[in-house]
Parts: sequence; C-alpha cells; structure tokens
Amino acid sequence: MPAKPPTLPDAAGDFAHALLAWYRENYRPLPWREEPSLYRTVVSEFMCQQTQIATVLPYFARWMQALPDFAALASAPEEQVVKLWEGLGYYSRARNLHKLAKQWMAAKPKPQTAEAWRAFPGVGPYTAAAIASIAFGEKSAVVDGNVVRILARLTNDQQEFTDNGKAVKVFTALADELIQHTAEPGDHNQAMMELGATICAKANPQCLLCPVRGFCAGYREADPAQLPRMRKKSVINRRIDRVFLAHEGCLLVHQIPKTARRLAGMCELPPAELLSVAYPAELILTRRRGIANERIEERFLHVEWSPAIEKFVGGEETLFWQPVAELDAITLTGPHRKWLSELLNSKPR
Ligand code: SF4
Repeated sequence: MPAKPPTLPDAAGDFAHALLAWYRENYRPLPWREEPSLYRTVVSEFMCQQTQIATVLPYFARWMQALPDFAALASAPEEQVVKLWEGLGYYSRARNLHKLAKQWMAAKPKPQTAEAWRAFPGVGPYTAAAIASIAFGEKSAVVDGNVVRILARLTNDQQEFTDNGKAVKVFTALADELIQHTAEPGDHNQAMMELGATICAKANPQCLLCPVRGFCAGYREADPAQLPRMRKKSVINRRIDRVFLAHEGCLLVHQIPKTARRLAGMCELPPAELLSVAYPAELILTRRRGIANERIEERFLHVEWSPAIEKFVGGEETLFWQPVAELDAITLTGPHRKWLSELLNSKPR
C-alpha cells in the first residue's frame, strides 16, 4: 500500500524546513534584504503594498538617498515625501509613512510586537506581522492574497470566497500554525512571499519547480491554477473628459482637494465638468486607467484660452496655472505625468 502523502498542518515542521531551505538558495537579492534595518523593512513594506517589486526598486533607492532614517523622514516636509512617492500610486501610504516616522521618533518604549505596530497609521495586520517577524523575530504570519493562494492550493480548498478579506481570515489560522515550526519567522514569511511571487504564481504555477510540491494537495488532486476560488468582482466603467489648456507657457492644472478620498493633494489635468463656462474643444487623446474595480476612460480635450476661462480660473481655488518648464515642481499622478508628456510633445505650445 503506498504511503499517505504528507498533508498540512500535520507535516508543518517538514514543510517549514523545505520552504526555508529553498528560500536560502533562491531568494532575490533585494536592497532591503541585502542591507536590512528596521527602517528599510518598514519603508519597503509600505512601498510593496499593491505594487510590484520591479516598480518599487528605483523609488526605494531614491527614498533612501533623500530620507535615510526615521529622523530624516520625520523632519521632512510633506511635499518632499509625496514628491518622492510620485508615480507609485496609493499616496495615503506616503502620508501614513510620514506620520509613522514622527510617532516612532516620539514613542517610548519603541514598539517591537506586531500588536504594538498595528497602532501606527497605515499598518494593518499584514504589515505589522512582516515588520515584527523580519525586524524582531516574532512568530507572526503574514497573510495576503499571495499567501492565501499558496495555502488554498496546498490544502486543495474548494470553497468560494466573495472577497480577499474573507479568504485571509479563513487561512490566518493555518499560516500562524505553520510559522510556529520555524526558528526564522522573518525568513519564513519572506519565503512565503517569494514562493507566491516567483513559483506559485496566479495564472501558471510552476509546480515542477516547487520546493513544497510534496505537501500540495492541490497539485495532486486538482488544477491548482483554479485555486483559490474567488467570486468575480463586477467592473464599473467610467468616462472622464479632461481639459488640456496651455497659455503663454503655462498649463491649466487641477489640484485634487486634500480632503478627497483618493489622490488627495495630487495634481491632474482638470476635469472638463469643473470648467462651467462655454468653450470649443477638440478631442486629442484618449487613455485608460484602472483604479480598484473601476475602468476609467479619460478623454483629453484641447481648449483654447479665452478671457471667460481666465476669469473662471481666478475664482476656482483648485485650478491654477503652472509654468510648463516647472512641471517637475508639482506632484502629478503617475498616469497624468505620462500622458501630459505625450500631449506636450505632440502639441508644443
Ligand atoms: S505545487 Fe504548485 S500549486 Fe502547489 S504550492 Fe507549489 S507551485 Fe503552488
């Protein structure tokens, strides 16, 4: 009779051992791993939320050069912090990181546990567990979409989840159980992240290269690419018309109010609906972007300057004229900086 395959959580010790051995041989040499410190761990965790590592790398390097430690970040002006983040998206992360540095400088005693770290702005259960395990060796498991995917496949879990948050709750107990079986919780968590990023990928898991294939019920009994089973989110389609108006070497720009839920304080080309004066307009560019489950089509309309527009701009505090030669001085959203460069190069003013 063939031996029963090892399953989780019974084989947790062997699983943790195999995972760690693979990680030690195969981890990507990222700057915050090569030269670790608490500050570098915190910054990298904030930057890597919802953002790919390849995108983060140049931002991390520039950030460390400008703001090398908590003290430098805490005393930096907010404009510099947000400017260094320009293009990374989800700007509340930058503002929260700034607040965190100020609070950390004032904190006595300095926080070490995941529970204590959760009191800081922008630090949820995942980030708290990552910081506490990597910087302080606490056995706190990180659980995000990557870890859910690995655990759902390892256990061939066929239940359907309505959203990622519910799946995280379901798999947290197993993740916590697994991390108890290692002496290196920081590396264990990083190994789970690395496995999800490089081997147990969403669409095409590389099962034949996987160091924990022997523990994987999904590989043995199902099509792991179909796991976890998530209910599809409905997509909302929106269209926004934008004004491209340059006059005497300046460009009309809109600053999103600081109280806005998204992109607070950032600059973009003005929404056409904001300019409640009549003007002729010519469609010159159409681009698309996605924010959460929204698919947004942005249409850029070339508008000629007129005294009526000038008067309107003077009375609208979120609109202003920015010299084209000094666009680097303001913080534009990533897509708008890119599209603006296309517009300015195609329509020199
Ligand atoms: S065997 Fe395949 S599905 Fe299972 S954990 Fe490894 S990569 Fe993922």
